[in-house]
Amino acid sequence: MRVFNFSAGPSTLPTEVIELAGQNIADYKGSGMSVMEMSHRSKWYDEINNECLALVRELMNVPDDYAIILVQGGASTQFEAVPLNLLKNGKADYIVTGNFAKKAFKEAGKYGDIKTVASSEDKKFTYIPRTTREDFRPDADYVHITENNTIFGTKFPALPDTHLPIVSDMSSCIMSEEIDVSKYGLIYAGAQKNLAPAGVTLVIVRKDLLGNEMPICPTMLKYRTQVDNNSLYNTPPCWAIYVMMLNLRRLKDMGGVKAIEEINRRKAKMLYDYIDSTPFYTNSVDKEYRSIMNVPFVAPTDELNAKFIKEAEAEGLVSLKGHKLVGGMRASIYNAMPVEGVEALIDFMKRFEKANS
Ligand SMILES: *Cc1c(COP(=O)(O)O)cnc(C)c1O
Repeated sequence: MRVFNFSAGPSTLPTEVIELAGQNIADYKGSGMSVMEMSHRSKWYDEINNECLALVRELMNVPDDYAIILVQGGASTQFEAVPLNLLKNGKADYIVTGNFAKKAFKEAGKYGDIKTVASSEDKKFTYIPRTTREDFRPDADYVHITENNTIFGTKFPALPDTHLPIVSDMSSCIMSEEIDVSKYGLIYAGAQKNLAPAGVTLVIVRKDLLGNEMPICPTMLKYRTQVDNNSLYNTPPCWAIYVMMLNLRRLKDMGGVKAIEEINRRKAKMLYDYIDSTPFYTNSVDKEYRSIMNVPFVAPTDELNAKFIKEAEAEGLVSLKGHKLVGGMRASIYNAMPVEGVEALIDFMKRFEKANS
C-alpha cells in the first residue's frame, strides 16, 4: 500500500510515474536492456534526454535565449557553480532567507566579494525581507535568492526589483506555479522535490551570461561544458532523467504548470485555512510569505508534536517531522501530493486536536 509521503526531499512522485518506470523495466523498447544499463550514447537514451530537455522548455515556456542543462551534484553544488560561472566583476549580492540561502552565501564567499543585502534571520526566517533597487551594488554580477525556503516554509511573493540578473534557487518550487523565465538570469533546482528521483539538477541560464567563468572553474562545473554537449559531456544520471521525463510527460498531459498551480494553491489554502481556524496548531510565517509547497506547523507542546508524528505515521501519513532547525511538523505538499493526501492530513489533524485538547 502506498502511503501519503510528506517528505521534504527526496519526495513523493506520482504513483503512475513510478508504475510506468517499472513497466518493461528490464527491456526498454526492445533494447534488451534497462535504461539503468544502457549507454548514454545510445539512440534510446538520446531520445530520453532530448525529450526531457524539450519538455522543460515547453512546460516552463523557456525563451530561446536561455540554455537548459541537466547536471549532477544537487542544488548544493550550484552554490559554488553559480559564482564560479557568473562572477565577472567579482561581486554578488545575496538575500538570505533561510538555511540553504546561508549555505549558498557561504560557498560564494570563497570566490569573490559577496554581500548579504538583506536577511530575515532576525526573526528566524519567518518572512521575506523587502529590498529596493538601491540596496544592490550597481557593479554586482547578480542577485541570488532562494525563492522557496523549504525548511521555514516561506516564499518570495514577488521577485526583487533590480537591474541585476536574478539567480534563483528554485529547488522546492520548480514547476509548482507559472513563472516568467525571462525575468531571471539563472534558475537552478535539485530535481528530487518536484521533478524526479534524486541525482539530477536542472539549470536554466540566459545565454549571454555564459562565458565569464573564473579560470579556476572546474570543467565539470562550467555551464558551457554541458551546454555545448547537450548535457552529455560525461555520464549523466540516466535513470533519474528518464523518470523526470516520464513525470514531465504526465504534467504536460494534465494541463501543464498552470493546471498543477491551481491544484497546489487549493491544497495549500485548505491546509493553512484549517491551521488558522484553530489555536491548537500554529504556523508562524507572515501570511503574505507563506510557501505553497512546505507548510511547517506546531502543536501546543513538544510532547504533542512527537505524538502527532507517531500517530500520523501509523495512519500512513509519513515524514511529517519538521526540520531540526524549526521543530514540530512540516507537510511538504509538492506537485505529486494529491488533494486526497492533504484531505487525509487535515482529517487526522482534526481528530488529533479533539483527542488532545
Ligand atoms: C533541498 C534544497 C537544497 C539542497 O539540495 P541538494 O540537491 O540536496 O543539494 C538547496 N536549496 C533548496 C531551496 C532546497 O530545498
